[in-house]
Parts: sequence; C-alpha cells; structure tokens
Amino acid sequence: MSDFLVPALQGLAPYIPGEQPRNRDYVKLNTNENPYPPSPRVLEALNREEVGRLNLYSDPTALPLRRAIAEVYGVKPDNVFCGNGSDEVLGFSFLAFADEKHPVTIPEVSYGFYQVVARLFRVPPRVIPLNEDFTLPVGRFAEAGSTVVFANPNAPTGIVLPLEDVERIVKGNPEHVVLVDEAYVDFGGESALGLLDRYPNLLIVRTFSKSRSLAGARLGYAIANTPVIADLERVRNSFHPYNINRLSMLAGVEAMRDVRYFAECTQKIVSQREETSKELSALGFTLTQSAANFLFAAPPALTAREYYAALKARGVLVRCWDDPKLKEHVRISIGTREQMRRLMLETRAILNERKIP
Ligand SMILES: *Cc1c(COP(=O)(O)O)cnc(C)c1O
Repeated sequence: MSDFLVPALQGLAPYIPGEQPRNRDYVKLNTNENPYPPSPRVLEALNREEVGRLNLYSDPTALPLRRAIAEVYGVKPDNVFCGNGSDEVLGFSFLAFADEKHPVTIPEVSYGFYQVVARLFRVPPRVIPLNEDFTLPVGRFAEAGSTVVFANPNAPTGIVLPLEDVERIVKGNPEHVVLVDEAYVDFGGESALGLLDRYPNLLIVRTFSKSRSLAGARLGYAIANTPVIADLERVRNSFHPYNINRLSMLAGVEAMRDVRYFAECTQKIVSQREETSKELSALGFTLTQSAANFLFAAPPALTAREYYAALKARGVLVRCWDDPKLKEHVRISIGTREQMRRLMLETRAILNERKIP
C-alpha cells in the first residue's frame, strides 16, 4: 500500500477472482466459464476488417447490441442497458441506486462481489443470513425497505428462488430498486422478465460470460423499465461512455442472435450437470439442487479443502472457500462430457486412496 491511498479504501478487501493458472493444463472447473467456444458466427464477425477499425471509437450507445438483446427478449432497446461485464452493470447499479444513506440488502451467502462493490462505493450492506438449507428467507427480503440485490439462481449454491417469491420481494419494496442477478438463469430457474410490466422497481441483470461463452469479451446487460435504464445511462455516461468495445459489441450481437447454438450448449451443460450430480451423490457427496452451470457439493469423509487440494494435484481445478458458511463445500463448474469424466475418475481415485467409504 502506498502512503497516498485514501483512508476510506485502506481497509477494503477486494474481490478475489478464481485462479487462472498459466503453468499447467488443468481441467478448469473453478470459474463457471462455459466449456464450449463462442458461436461460430462470433468468429466470423471478428475479421481483419473489423480489427482494422479499432482506430475508431465504439458506438457509445451500444445500439446494435441493445437491439439484438431486445429482439431476443421481446422488449425495446430502451429497456436494455449494456455493461463491460455484468460486474460493471452491478457497479453502475450500486452507484445509481444506493449511497451512504441508502443501504443495500443482500444475502449473506451469495456472489461475493456485491459486498465488495458496496464497500467501494461506501454503501452500507445489510447482510441477511440464508436459512439452514441455503434457501433465501423471503419474508425478510420482502420487508427490506431498502435497495435489494440477490442472484437467482443463487451463487454458489445454484438454488432457485421460485418466481412467486421473487415477486413478493419486488412487490414488498415498491420504493426501492430490487436487482435480480440472473447470471445463471439460462441453465434453469424462471426469469423475472415477465414481471417488468407490473413493477417499475425491478432491475434484471444478466451476463454473456456463462451461457453465451463470452467471459473474455466482458459483456453484461440489464433489462428494466425505461426510467431505471435512463438512470443507469446517466451514471455510465458520467463515467465510461465507450464501455463496450467494438470487437465485443460484434461478438455479443452474434452470440445473442445464434439462438440455436446457445440452446445446444446450454442443454449439454444441463444434462452433464444432472449426470455428474447423480454420480457424486452415489459416492456420498451432499449436493444442493443446482439450476446453474455448477454444482455445490460437500465431499464425504474428507474436508472440502482436502478434496480441492487432491483434485488440484491430479490436474483438476475447482473452487473452495475459507468462509465458515461455505467451507464444507466445493463449487464444481460444469465442463464438457470429457472434463466431467475426468473429474469423476480423479474423484473415485481420491476416495479409493483414502478407503472411503
Ligand atoms: C459470474 C457472475 C457475474 C459476473 O459476470 P461478468 O459478466 O463476467 O462480470 C455476476 N453475477 C454472478 C452471480 C456471477 O456468478
């Protein structure tokens, strides 16, 4: 730390991204990336000619991308906001709808980034613990009386909140924005999109990083009623008007339009999730019912950290935590069929070595 960092930031604990090792060919199941490459249409769109136009700024309204998203979801481009990853959309949302005097209510176990952004922007986070079974205490969120942020399906549990409960929370906080982070909704669960007609305070945030195979392009978006979108635009244009670069914009448009490729990839991931879930249960793992592209699993007779380390030594990377609420589980991203076979092979070997069961 330098002598110059402002005092308010000296105690900030930044978000720690999952490992991105360069030194070994791991089976990488630790950051919920899509194991399949982007749509072939994306590769075609990013040609020499387009690279040759990088001397020009990108469209500061991101209109082509907003149009493509609007078409797929049956809304108007004015209902769509685009960000440099959904993390940036979350950041703009916190800036727009919370401050020192306007706290944010978030679940204790959820995407860790929410608490980090809140602290960065000096927003007091009101953290509500989940129920014993990792479900959301709906009543407490419905009575929050503040801006609310939660993920559905939740991370890292994968658990879905039924749409009627989402509606209860949105309806219970009519004077505040309720942000539903649908990063994983394409792998299961119901979207809150159908509620937008009735609730001006609903803000849905999504990403191209998981179901559209574009984590490296950094694209996220929000869908909401036009006044909420206009608020986000006000913040964005005061901070980073060219936040979507030319190449990512082209990639995003094609990834959104290639509905068939998207459906194929998500279906494969869902069926691999179900298969791996059954296999791990049969070996004695305890799993939540995940509707996302990952499993949240507690291994039998060895700690999550031991299982993580043994897998890593065998070339398979998963995610684990020191947080007491999470430390019994690992999170395993769903990869290709071959990658999941390898996970199961190494897992069986690890259990056999230790004579489990
Ligand atoms: C991965 C993830 C994001 C971040 O996605 P980016 O678009 O890559 O920034 C946001 N929310 C949740 C819940 C996620 O898991």
